[in-house]
Amino acid sequence: MSRFFSTKYADLVPYVPGEQPQGRTFIKLNTNESPFPPSQKAIAAAAEAARTLHLYSDPNCRRLVEKLAQTYGLETSEIVCTNGSDEVLNFAFMAFCDAEHPAVFPNATYGFYKVFAAVNGVPYEEIPLRPDFSIDVNDYIGLNKTIFLANPNAPSGLMLPVGEIERIVAGNPNSVVVVDEAYIDFGGESCLPLIRKYGNLLVTRTFSKSRSMAGARLGFGMACPALIADLNTLRFSTNPYNVNSMTMAAAIGALEDEAYTRECCMSVCATREWTTEQLRELGFELNDSMTNFVFAAHPRISGTALCARLRERGFLVRHFDTPLLTRYNRISIGSQAQMEQFIAAVRAILEEV
Ligand code: PMP
Repeated sequence: MSRFFSTKYADLVPYVPGEQPQGRTFIKLNTNESPFPPSQKAIAAAAEAARTLHLYSDPNCRRLVEKLAQTYGLETSEIVCTNGSDEVLNFAFMAFCDAEHPAVFPNATYGFYKVFAAVNGVPYEEIPLRPDFSIDVNDYIGLNKTIFLANPNAPSGLMLPVGEIERIVAGNPNSVVVVDEAYIDFGGESCLPLIRKYGNLLVTRTFSKSRSMAGARLGFGMACPALIADLNTLRFSTNPYNVNSMTMAAAIGALEDEAYTRECCMSVCATREWTTEQLRELGFELNDSMTNFVFAAHPRISGTALCARLRERGFLVRHFDTPLLTRYNRISIGSQAQMEQFIAAVRAILEEV
């Protein structure tokens, strides 16, 4: 830390992203990326947009917002686009949290929520999950705090049904409820229709997982026009050009190729079911995930040791070294061929221990 660094950040512990190896080639099952490339339409549109990179991108993301509105049956005033969904989440902490409106989220969820709270000087509370990592909805009624819920949740992979989300949104009429639907396209039911019924619900989504565009950095938020206007106030006060023109074009291309997205998601879900079954047969303990990852622990090998041994064999998985999560590894679902190699590696490791 330099002597110039603001003391308000003295205790800030930054988020640690999953490793993106640049040299040795690993089978990457550590950051929940898609194993499939982006749609050909997305790639072609990005290449075309590269020709006009001398111009700033459209700060209103007009064509993209219109395409999203058409895709999701919304008005353009109900959508905001951001640099990854991380940015819309950060904007939500900035916009809807302060000392009078602390943030609240489960004690095992997306690790960035804590960091967004800290960087924005927002007090936060973590509500314990049940021992099986499920959420007790009763813990979230009448809180008077800004609620952040990943649904499905990470790293558990578990999903609350829409009716339960509605109970939380209705049960906190004077607080904003942010539902992070980063993984909704892998079999979950979205609570998006509720934004027309509740003025306190913000739903966030990403192109990083189901649309195979993690490197393009595109997320978006959907809510009533008043909440979207607040988020846009922050967007225009920080970086109006937050979405670059190649990403915007690629996203429109991807949205014009929904059949491809559906096909990729169906493949991931089928491979997830296969992987789950294989891991259970090998003695792993794991939930029925509704995401593009599984979260698994084995009684005979620690989470840390399994992660390290997999690395030696060329597989990256994500291990979280906290008391609650340390027995487990979060394993992204790759292609069927990758997961077959993965299961063979796990089997070999288990034979050694
Ligand atoms: N929410 C959850 C639950 C996530 O796991 C992630 C991915 N790390 C994100 C949001 C952010 O994704 P991105 O910024 O790539 O849209």
